Amino acid sequence: MKIHEYQAKAIFSDTGIPVPREKLATAPPEAKKAAEEIGLPVVLKAQVLVGGRGKAGGVKKAEKLEDVESIAGQILGMNIKGLEVTKLLVSECVAIKAEFYLGITIDRARRKPVLIASAAGGVDIEEVAKKTPEKIIKIEINPLLGLLPFQARNVGMALLSEAKLATEFTSLALKLYRLFIQRDCSLVEINPLVLTGGGTLLALDAKINFDDNALFRHPENESLRDLSSEEPKEIEAKNAGLSYIKLSGNVGCIVNGAGLAMATMDLIKRFGGEPANFLDVGGSSSPEKMVTAMRIILSDPSVRVILVNIFGGITRCDDIAQGLIQAKNEADIKVPIVARLVGTNADRACALLADSPVLSATKMSEAVKLAVARAKEAE
Ligand code: GDP
Ligand code: MN
Repeated sequence: MKIHEYQAKAIFSDTGIPVPREKLATAPPEAKKAAEEIGLPVVLKAQVLVGGRGKAGGVKKAEKLEDVESIAGQILGMNIKGLEVTKLLVSECVAIKAEFYLGITIDRARRKPVLIASAAGGVDIEEVAKKTPEKIIKIEINPLLGLLPFQARNVGMALLSEAKLATEFTSLALKLYRLFIQRDCSLVEINPLVLTGGGTLLALDAKINFDDNALFRHPENESLRDLSSEEPKEIEAKNAGLSYIKLSGNVGCIVNGAGLAMATMDLIKRFGGEPANFLDVGGSSSPEKMVTAMRIILSDPSVRVILVNIFGGITRCDDIAQGLIQAKNEADIKVPIVARLVGTNADRACALLADSPVLSATKMSEAVKLAVARAKEAE
């Protein structure tokens, strides 16, 4: 889960990481009022959950009060990579001596958090990492010990070459690490972290991603969620207790269990098809869940066939069959449905589906082949 810069900065501020004075605005007059309070010049920053916002024209400086309203008007309503800008951060314009990059994330290969820093901070850190990787400092963090002060201090000296500033950097990096762990983040990033004209460190930009698998431990994060930037069907699925991820192919999939979902998607690919989604109805199911699952899948116009692959353990196959029939009765479903239901109450499911137009197969490979063939015919 991603949050906006202004939300991340509020968290930074609570943690004791210094940020510029700033205010959120949703309309040009509000931006003007904020600029008056903050003092000119100001930087106006689009709040959208995508990267490269500055380059897309979403970050602009305003010198005069008259300009604030017109620039705010330009940025608000702008479309950046498919997202409409509805919020603007009005930020004190800071004099910059140097820009650095500082981030903490999980290195999956090393199975540890890593601190990443660079003196080549600013907008193009991905380019720096590709072209001049020697300019990136990477510090492995022992998860049992946490980030140690000497590690942070070494990075601080490498970036700032001055003991007093390295001390300031150490305190900031330790706070950032504490925040990363306490709130179960998958990424915290400051780009740029700047050395101001006044000679202190300041987080000029802020990014926080929370680990979705740990969100249940953080009810405080729920209010930070920006639903307008999430796939609406993924939200509906989540509310119904389903995991739905939209993909780019045309074979809609309903399965139970993430492992079976992976295996099903692998087989679809193996037989030359492309999954349209990943939809896991979970370990237990009910006809209602199936109806919701069908509705979600069918709202994707690229779906040409629905493959239902269920291994019934706790999930009862007859519940699934009932759900399929109910969904068919409630909506005029034009795409073919291929079902492979095995396990608990499979025989009852078979009997239920016998007179229905649902195509069934007992072997997984058969079902997948059939679904892929139907999808190809329909294209
Ligand atoms: P991003 O490009 O979307 O990541 O937006 P940032 O907030 O990181 O800003 C991009 C760049 O704009 C920074 O690297 C700075 O060079 C510049 N910038 C942003 N805020 C200020 C500011 O207050 N003062 C100055 N001088 N430059 C700024
Ligand atoms: Mn940035």
